[in-house]
Amino acid sequence: MKLTIKYALLSIILFSCSKEEDKNPVPVTPTSATPAPTSLIPLEINTTDIINDPEIFNYDVNKDYSEQIVEFYPNAFFASDLSENVVNGINLALKTAADEWGKYGPVEYWVFGADKQAALDLINKFCERREALNQWTMTECLVRETDESLDHSMIAYQKTGAEVIATNQPRGNAGHNGGFEWGIHKLSSSYPFTFDNLFDDIPAQDDFKTVLHEYFHVVQLSHVYNLTWNVRDSRVIPNESIWMQEGGAEYMANFTLFKLINNGTLIFEESYGSLSEKMQNKMDNAKRALNNNCSGRKLEDFKYGDDCSNVGYDLGTWAVAYLIDKINNPSILLETFYPNLAKMDFESAFNLSFGYSTSEFYSEFESFLELPLEEQLKIIPNP
Ligand SMILES: [Zn+2]
Repeated sequence: MKLTIKYALLSIILFSCSKEEDKNPVPVTPTSATPAPTSLIPLEINTTDIINDPEIFNYDVNKDYSEQIVEFYPNAFFASDLSENVVNGINLALKTAADEWGKYGPVEYWVFGADKQAALDLINKFCERREALNQWTMTECLVRETDESLDHSMIAYQKTGAEVIATNQPRGNAGHNGGFEWGIHKLSSSYPFTFDNLFDDIPAQDDFKTVLHEYFHVVQLSHVYNLTWNVRDSRVIPNESIWMQEGGAEYMANFTLFKLINNGTLIFEESYGSLSEKMQNKMDNAKRALNNNCSGRKLEDFKYGDDCSNVGYDLGTWAVAYLIDKINNPSILLETFYPNLAKMDFESAFNLSFGYSTSEFYSEFESFLELPLEEQLKIIPNP
């Protein structure tokens, strides 16, 4: 009730809200007028669990944890309409990702269901957390995050879930939405319905993989965290080209998921096929688009927000698979490429990791795309 009233009052000043995700002005140090409440200081940092209570800070809020491995797991916060299966599924996926690739943080993974009031309550918790840390005022936070017209507002993730229920059409989105100015990684997710078995033909591995994908973005961005935003962008998406950032996340998520299924670490009720099948689908989708509305586009041409950006994801996944096969090291992004990206540009880190220039690689990859599918699939391992 309290939130509903606030929301109604705030809606009159919607247009003064900045659209840019990462550029909210932030006072770093609490002023003497508003000292940090003692509840912000954890008595003991919990190093074994994902914390699900948004009122708990499982780390020292006065410490800078950027660009380093931390002791604590990510946090995951859930709208109250989400089931225990969803909570357990997301928690396990996040823990798995952090165990596989390293704990970076603080990570806040905000998960929305289909119910609007439950989403508004969760957004309220998010904003209280920001206010408690003197990062944002309650008012500005609520205005921004409850604005349905903004693509990456938190309420937009609830809208996606509500549409899935209303239309019975599977759809989802999740994203790393920044948080650099606050020293955290802020991620949001729409309703991860596969953990509730909502659609017969979409097993839970789908949402598990999405969490791995998003957490890989945490890993990527943790290495370039303290650069200014334009330098950071030039390192991870050079000339706005998304293939490495998205292809890296998608390939590592799929590869790791199948590795852990195949070695018996992860057990799911239903089969998810094989890495080879997933890669085949991506090649089919990319080829279809390249033969139609995205013709003439090359790997390095795809950007966020353009009509063909999906092709950048699909071809990017293949590009990363190709590079990993070429040097025969599935950990190259974790061991070499991203760790060097803080001190050198994309081209230099690429050269160091793969032993040749991007332009040499791009022309090699062009030829690879001409091969028959059976030949292409030979580079895909059964991890
Ligand atoms: Zn992504």
